[in-house]
Amino acid sequence: METQVLIIGGGIAGLSLAWRLAPAIPVVVVEAEATLAFHTSSRSARQMQPSYGPAPIAELTRRSIKMVRDISASLVAPILKPRPLLTLGTVEEVVALVAAHPGLEVIGHAETLRRSPDLHADVFEAAALDGTAMEVDVPALIEHYRSQAVAAGAVVLTGAPVTRIDATARDSAPGFTVLAWEQVISAALVVNAAGAWADTVAAMAGAAPRGLVPYRRSVAIVSTKLPVDPAGPMVEPVDESFYYRPDGGHLLISPCESVPAEPGDARVVDADIAELIGRIDAVTSLGVAGVVRAWTGLRTQPADGLPVVGFDASVPGFFWLAGQGGYGIQTSAALATLAAALITGTLPNDDHDLASALSPQRAGLK
Ligand SMILES: Cc1cc2nc3c(=O)[nH]c(=O)nc-3n(C[C@H](O)[C@H](O)[C@H](O)COP(=O)(O)OP(=O)(O)OC[C@H]3O[C@@H](n4cnc5c(N)ncnc54)[C@H](O)[C@@H]3O)c2cc1C
Repeated sequence: METQVLIIGGGIAGLSLAWRLAPAIPVVVVEAEATLAFHTSSRSARQMQPSYGPAPIAELTRRSIKMVRDISASLVAPILKPRPLLTLGTVEEVVALVAAHPGLEVIGHAETLRRSPDLHADVFEAAALDGTAMEVDVPALIEHYRSQAVAAGAVVLTGAPVTRIDATARDSAPGFTVLAWEQVISAALVVNAAGAWADTVAAMAGAAPRGLVPYRRSVAIVSTKLPVDPAGPMVEPVDESFYYRPDGGHLLISPCESVPAEPGDARVVDADIAELIGRIDAVTSLGVAGVVRAWTGLRTQPADGLPVVGFDASVPGFFWLAGQGGYGIQTSAALATLAAALITGTLPNDDHDLASALSPQRAGLK
């Protein structure tokens, strides 16, 4: 099989890039697992929060929300809905948070309780409100990326783990021969969208690792003794040590752990969830009744916490789209657009600083 661009990884990163590239260039996506988005992309909390993350992430998130809003408007059922974020703390903590994050608003004790009446009144003084935060239907978004890419001619192969990448540059043009299960695929460019395995895939191509570390994080859906307001906010303390939000009549909760792990099929540590339930019960009157289901995924990022996006300077034709950490959903549409522009040589002048901040060659990567 021959293609122009071979994307390794069928999570949200690889599929969103295929969506942006396929109308212009032949694209093949290879995914190791039998199903797409088997790993981190199907295990998120499904939030898009402009106030969450450093400046380049905030910019990409704002752009992505606009793009996903347009996607949502084109579909039969909407996939984006407002899910305001309330960050609780002392007045001093909340004022400092709002000063550091434009777009946040300080709201007082009474207003916070009005917006989230099931909070215990004595566990906070004020809150920072991000009224622009959204909840997104991630399976529907990923399916949109996939189906649009395929409609534009992309080929998506599952059960196709890449085990070998040989550089076969000819006449100064980059080129690769890649072994994906039993398929031999020739490609001019290879994109590394392998999530937790990105440094492993880079090593196959002879590229230096970028110090990408997978960190485990869990989420549980719990039932409650009192009814949950489906339109209620997402709530977290200033130290981001846990969060919760309504989810289909239940509560979605996370202990926000960030524990280094090996790439793999991450599993829930039951004790983390049990301890978390105690903390949720200490701040709300909802009363956790039981765990409906729980899951764990890997948030993979380099030392400076920003995604790694761009061509590898040492391996011609090898492109990175990795290290999205806890931001890979909320940035997917705009990050794929930026990556596609870098690949096709059409990056707008205004985006050069943003691209430099994410470059695989930047200082700050190991
Ligand atoms: C609990 C939790 C909550 C989160 N909440 C949010 C949130 O609310 N908002 C947000 O923006 N982000 C969130 N995230 C982060 C977000 O889910 C990730 O940033 C994003 O899913 C990463 O996507 P990806 O495509 O890079 O990785 P993945 O989905 O892991 O995809 C990489 C794929 O590459 C494949 N692969 C690896 N090696 C090979 C190979 N050799 N050959 C072929 N295929 C290969 C893997 O099988 C995998 O399917 C959360 C993450 C977790 C764990």
